[in-house]
Amino acid sequence: MSDWLSQNKIKAAFYSLIITNILVWGFYFSQPDGDFRLKIYDVGQGDAIFIRTSRGYKILIDGGPGDRVLDYLGKDLPFYSKKIDLVVLTHPQADHLTGLIQVVKRYQVENLWVSQVTNTTRGYEAWRQAIKQSRVKVTTVHQGKKLQLADGTKITVLWPTSSVNSRDLNAYSIVLLISYGSFDAMLTGDADKKFQPYTSSSGHVEVFKVPHHGSKTAINEYFVKSISPEVSVISVGKKNNYGHPNENIINFLENIGSKVYRTDKNGTVEIVSDGKSWYTKTN
Ligand SMILES: [Zn+2]
Repeated sequence: MSDWLSQNKIKAAFYSLIITNILVWGFYFSQPDGDFRLKIYDVGQGDAIFIRTSRGYKILIDGGPGDRVLDYLGKDLPFYSKKIDLVVLTHPQADHLTGLIQVVKRYQVENLWVSQVTNTTRGYEAWRQAIKQSRVKVTTVHQGKKLQLADGTKITVLWPTSSVNSRDLNAYSIVLLISYGSFDAMLTGDADKKFQPYTSSSGHVEVFKVPHHGSKTAINEYFVKSISPEVSVISVGKKNNYGHPNENIINFLENIGSKVYRTDKNGTVEIVSDGKSWYTKTN
């Protein structure tokens, strides 16, 4: 065998090894590991939350104020899969909406949940166009809507009721209770204290996404005591113009024994559960 030939054989073996590795790793990362994962992405001043359930259903709640969500999704979804099973827009304000416009354009979104309210902004018009051009199935949801996935994950809409009538778009913010086994997370958009309690019956939750970026009107103390969250996460931008989050809110949560995470200081906050135990990870 000539040197040239053997060198080429080695090269071929080397490249096939790389290709095999990519396939194996791609496969590995796309496989559900049996755990439920909830990530509150650090998108600056806004909200974007990604959930991958134990059997790999993908859910995105809000898209944040810009395109940062695309980088996160690029890492959290396998490179060959552009499918998101459910997108929820809690309410159509820019800090929740903007990132979703590109998501709907670039990803195969199967279902979209929205609340009954619209907006008059340019961003909202771009969003409406993007939805029209996609094949997403749009559902307007209200309190009481329930979805159970094949792996046991349950999603319940706690807010808004169909009778909400307000000039404040936050009043229409979709609030979700997401349960997997004995693990419960309450995701609240910007539905602050005026709308709490969202339902007459809310039990203890492990994770509470603090409404409205921890603004001073974010929480009704009686309500939050009644759900006694073990972890509270505030999605908020560094040095934002609103003075979010409010210090009294943080003190209150800490005083009732809730561990507080905030995306401006902790970055993306991830919670992982097997349906019984759970833990929090920051990157
Ligand atoms: Zn907001």
